[in-house]
Amino acid sequence: MTHAHADHVFGFDDLRAYTNRMPGPMPVWASAGTAQTLRTIFDYLDKPPIPGTSLARIDLRTVDGPFEFSGIRLTPLPAEHGRADMVGWKIEHEGRSFAAIPDCKHLPPDTIALCRGVDLVAIDALRIRPHPTHMNFDEAILALREIGAKRSLVIHLCHEVSHAQAEQLLPEGMAPAYDGLQIEL
Ligand SMILES: [Zn+2]
Ligand SMILES: [Zn+2]
Repeated sequence: MTHAHADHVFGFDDLRAYTNRMPGPMPVWASAGTAQTLRTIFDYLDKPPIPGTSLARIDLRTVDGPFEFSGIRLTPLPAEHGRADMVGWKIEHEGRSFAAIPDCKHLPPDTIALCRGVDLVAIDALRIRPHPTHMNFDEAILALREIGAKRSLVIHLCHEVSHAQAEQLLPEGMAPAYDGLQIEL
């Protein structure tokens, strides 16, 4: 999980389509603040299921540093995003790396350092006008230049920017992501 805003977690109930087919609960990692908010929104998380009903079976784990799961190294990337306890994620596997920070207004130097030189990075660029808790295009371009990934994407665009407009606004090496995009690293 990155944070507990509605546009990022309100598909949570639908995880049951996966967990119904799994032998055990699905492990989910979140920062302490996000885990707390998730337990408030989805209050079934810590309750035994009512027999005959099916809810997502989740093993919610609080994380505050890098860890490995199934051969994949996961590193939380703290970011400033209003009042949210926000983390992006760096995912590393077999020498390839991807960092995604969907919502952010500012990236602290430690997070920039963790992202520097990744194969692929994707960060928030909400719109052209400034926003108090999201990066606009100018801010995202500056942050992406600092990170210097081999390939850079902007994500979380709002309806004020069309895909074609976004392509024109971005310098070479940067592009808007889109639904269904697949990238092989
Ligand atoms: Zn958000
Ligand atoms: Zn969002």
